[in-house]
Amino acid sequence: MLTAPLPSQIDIRKLVVKGAEISANPPISSLPRIADLLAEGDSDTEDKAGSLAVNLRFYIDDERQRRVDGQITGTVKMTCQRCLEPMPVDVDMKFELGIVWSEEDAERLPKSLEPLIVGDELVDLADIVSDELILSLPYVNYHSPADCKQNIGYSSVDPEHTDAVGKVNVEQERDNPFQVLEQLKFDK
Ligand SMILES: [Zn+2]
Repeated sequence: MLTAPLPSQIDIRKLVVKGAEISANPPISSLPRIADLLAEGDSDTEDKAGSLAVNLRFYIDDERQRRVDGQITGTVKMTCQRCLEPMPVDVDMKFELGIVWSEEDAERLPKSLEPLIVGDELVDLADIVSDELILSLPYVNYHSPADCKQNIGYSSVDPEHTDAVGKVNVEQERDNPFQVLEQLKFDK
């Protein structure tokens, strides 16, 4: 499959009428906002941050509703919130969108469909795929205990335990909003 950005500035109505199906391996860097969520890639090797296969099917269903059904599979590298090293996260998701032109139309959609409000605009398929990915990617990730570089017998974000161990992991001292959440959990 060709690694190329997804088509941009398209008339989604035409794809629906044609019953188009698009399969692609878009580079992570071509998906808006996704790279920011992932562990930092290596600039030498494009898409060290992961690789994804996208399939989009445009059609009119039996209820005369215009639809985009999609599937995204692959692997992305996200940051383990325990040791702050990259870790692979599998992606395997499907979505079913009902194409509508306005908010009012969106309210009439069957509950099983997520609205995709397109109005009269041309759309970038990468935007649609990014939005769905952002909704499905896990917010925090941890290696399995065997793979994690951080000893999980204690938490170095807990000051009591840090004293007991007598060592603070420099990596863990970085400002990280997730650690604040972690600390709240431990404080309970
Ligand atoms: Zn880890």
